[in-house]
Amino acid sequence: MSELNPFLIAQRQLDECARILNLDDSVREVLRVPMREMHVSIPVRMDDGKIRVFKGFRVQYNDARGPTKGGIRFHPDETVDTVRALAAWMTWKAAVVDIPLGGGKGGVICNPKKMSDGELERLSRAYIQSISQIVGPEKDVPAPDVYTNPQIMAWMMDEFSKIYQKNQFGMITGKPLELGGSAGRGDATARGGCYTIREAAEEIGMDLKGATVAIQGYGNAGYYAATLVTSLYGCKVVAVSDSRGGIVNEAGLDGEAVFEHKAKTGSVVNFPGSTPIYNEDLLELDVDVLIPAALENVITDANAGNIKAKIICELANGPTTPEADEILYNNDVHVIPDFLANAGGVTVSYFEMVQNFYMYYWDEELVHERLDKKMTSAYHATLHTSRKYKINMRQAAYVVAVERVVEAMRLRGRL
Ligand code: NAD
Repeated sequence: MSELNPFLIAQRQLDECARILNLDDSVREVLRVPMREMHVSIPVRMDDGKIRVFKGFRVQYNDARGPTKGGIRFHPDETVDTVRALAAWMTWKAAVVDIPLGGGKGGVICNPKKMSDGELERLSRAYIQSISQIVGPEKDVPAPDVYTNPQIMAWMMDEFSKIYQKNQFGMITGKPLELGGSAGRGDATARGGCYTIREAAEEIGMDLKGATVAIQGYGNAGYYAATLVTSLYGCKVVAVSDSRGGIVNEAGLDGEAVFEHKAKTGSVVNFPGSTPIYNEDLLELDVDVLIPAALENVITDANAGNIKAKIICELANGPTTPEADEILYNNDVHVIPDFLANAGGVTVSYFEMVQNFYMYYWDEELVHERLDKKMTSAYHATLHTSRKYKINMRQAAYVVAVERVVEAMRLRGRL
């Protein structure tokens, strides 16, 4: 196993938290491994009439606080260790925003870009059949992730409902609105991140009106972040990027117009009135707020010292290495760590489950109001802990989350 194995990284982060909290070794041992994992072989008839067998996983990391929850990835490079790490991070994410859920994750090794809709539907149905014994509204609730979407969630929900012979909308989230999806799910991750930026700005005395923002990545998280920081707080987005490169305009970029340009041309690059910038340079721009919303490990010990932003809101998972964290902390950069900053998505997924149970649906305004409450209180719990233990915000988010999970386990008599 290599150093970059995500599960080893997740275990290292937990070890560090256990050290800060002075956790008993036996407690740490329990928290370091998933409570359950299922490995399945999924035979699917392909369009050419032949049967292909796909490999799939479902990992349930910890359910002390409630049913496990986490997305399903369809990816050619999927590994069980990635799924384990993501399941661990889901556990801490649900705990830091204090929603009554545990953490899980699923994955199938496949390349959806090379499959027909029919093949994808048969695979989705077969995967959910093969894990049906361990998922369900009160056991483990999947959701979309890389290369899975609301249509795939609808097929899985339908298949599960057939097995149980009744509608089971609450068994999965990220569904289409017509099938029990929640209002406000689309921009929930970015919106939740924006609420934490608002709190962080207040904390460090930054006026967000006219504050400059640079965003790396212009997909679901980055695009919505660009439009929301402008519409909610009057920030000026001066730079954005995608995998092909970045653009800058000191006078400010119109997020919607950039989105339309990307939809037409496939990239933000060459947006009228902007000048090009490399992705690496975007990170070091003299801006007030930096939002990494693309990839892992982009802020490292090589560039952390050059970062001028006063707030970093990590919508991406794992954009900052542990070495960079220390540099940023020493330079007084206020980092809102990934599993806090991007918890808006799972929070609205939880709201979706609640609405499914009640069979009564909320309007978008109510979803926003309740999301704001959750994100704001999670931010302040983390900030308070970071001060109390004199640790950085990432370590503090871990401490808040792990303490909550440990307390639930103790109360249940599991420790
Ligand atoms: P996405 O696929 O919609 O968008 C990713 C964006 O990153 C694209 O614009 C892509 O061009 C860009 N990108 C890829 N390589 C790049 C590079 N080398 N430099 C700059 N940009 C690059 O994905 P997303 O849903 O927006 O997710 C982005 C990040 O946010 C991921 O780390 C994801 O795990 C995290 N996240 C997303 C959600 C969500 O609800 N969408 C929730 C939690 C975390």
